[in-house]
Amino acid sequence: MTMNHQGRSTSAGEAGRSASHQTFTGNRALDMEEPLIFEIGHMDNCGVDLDETADFAPRLGSHMRQEIVDLPALSEPETMRHYVRLSRNNYAIDAGLYPLGSCTMKHNPRLNEKMARLPGFADIHPLQPISTVPGAFELISELADWLMELTGTNAVAMSPKAGAHGEQCGMMAIKHAIAAKGEERSIVLVPESAHGTNPATAALVGYKVVSIPARDDGTVSVDAVVEKIEAHAGQVAALMLTNPNTCGLFEPEVIEIANAIHEAGGYFYCDGANFNAIVGKAKPGDLGIDAMHINLHKTFSTPHGGGGPGSGPVVLSDRLAPYAPLPFIRKNNEELEVVETTDQLQGNEQPFGRMTAFFGQMGMYVRALSYMMSHGSDGLKQASEDAVLNANYIRVGLQDLMTLPFGEKPCMHEVLFDDSFLNDTGVSTLDFAKAMIDEGYHPMTMYFPLVVSGAMLIEPTESESRASLDLFVATMRDLVMSAKAGDTGRFEGAPYLAPRRRLDETTAARKPILKWVAPEPTKVQPETA
Ligand SMILES: *Cc1c(COP(=O)(O)O)cnc(C)c1O
Repeated sequence: MTMNHQGRSTSAGEAGRSASHQTFTGNRALDMEEPLIFEIGHMDNCGVDLDETADFAPRLGSHMRQEIVDLPALSEPETMRHYVRLSRNNYAIDAGLYPLGSCTMKHNPRLNEKMARLPGFADIHPLQPISTVPGAFELISELADWLMELTGTNAVAMSPKAGAHGEQCGMMAIKHAIAAKGEERSIVLVPESAHGTNPATAALVGYKVVSIPARDDGTVSVDAVVEKIEAHAGQVAALMLTNPNTCGLFEPEVIEIANAIHEAGGYFYCDGANFNAIVGKAKPGDLGIDAMHINLHKTFSTPHGGGGPGSGPVVLSDRLAPYAPLPFIRKNNEELEVVETTDQLQGNEQPFGRMTAFFGQMGMYVRALSYMMSHGSDGLKQASEDAVLNANYIRVGLQDLMTLPFGEKPCMHEVLFDDSFLNDTGVSTLDFAKAMIDEGYHPMTMYFPLVVSGAMLIEPTESESRASLDLFVATMRDLVMSAKAGDTGRFEGAPYLAPRRRLDETTAARKPILKWVAPEPTKVQPETA
């Protein structure tokens, strides 16, 4: 009988059946096949009873729909089953350790959910008169205070809806600040190790990107920055630097780099996606940043994945604060004033425009503030320390078997391995990641950052227990040892046990099929009037 490492049986009795065992339904016990909702739901099977409408003469003329849109319609229990079955095919932080580096998959405390569901927050409408929602603005303002306190800044633009959106906001503020000085600058410096959104943002806002090489130790040197500043004298608008960086390392020369860019008349955009490693330990404002987005969905635990929702407030230095976008909340002593239009502007306020139709992601604001207030300043600091401790625990547990591109030195909240330990094993980095799925883990971030060939970036959540980290380390060690022992079969076809095996990711990316087309659309004869 097969046993797991705790001695519990993992086979279905003596006559245990193989993974290739066929079933009549296609279901595999709890792992159930589920067709697309379009395939199972049809309008003629609608789950609600509506009264027949009274006769009326439509005035739509040629805009009258000619065909029935066969929207999927299901009864309530059918709908429930559909989504519950699909959800069971998902990996989530609520199901297991989720080591996806750079993405920071944090546990979202249920207290956050309870607060976000309070009707006074959950049921407000963005077009409601402002006088009816003072509590919501007070919450946004209090969250803004926490963000400014934690970052050591005096201004924050709350409305951006993701990290990348925050980058766009910060870079637009920089562009307007430069234009307000009557200057024209065309270049943004971005280190090679940057997240793809950094150069993409700079290009979107209209800048030319000049890349800064990384040092052998994975960090950026002030000399490399100064070299580029001198090569493009008077043209550098900003530097976009991630700190701690995407190799999981704190940039040791960050202050010198900030000074260099300021002396050249440029601005320092800091990508704050990794702020969760330093909250309560270091204030980015003290390091000389001019703008930094904070991914509330990473650092402050609001749930993410599957495309949203996120929230990416941007803290701004005093030099950039006047250009913060509309709408914003102005504090007049203890009174909050909501500034929505240009005729309300005062003093040196010159917003560059607006980023969103309304005020941003209210649900995320409630969750983030709930996280902050329930942790307190000491708890937030401890979360950062635990994040760093957990990453280093994994580093030490694996560094004799896996390879560290920058040597055996401490990392921040994530640890970067490369795939040279797989050399000559016949197992590729991708195969290795797929085999982790069979073991019940979401793979780590693969092939990022690009500065390291075959990168494997592991970020354990700070809330993982020691037992959970030990099991992860033991699993990784077992995988590495079977790769080194030549058991390529464990990897080649992995995942063997997932609901779907290897998907054709290349075709999916190159020729995505984004629209479901009914095999035989139902036509109705338009009635002649
Ligand atoms: C996640 C991330 C971003 C982008 O943030 P989104 O909220 O996904 O738009 C940018 N930079 C780094 C380093 C990140 O990890």
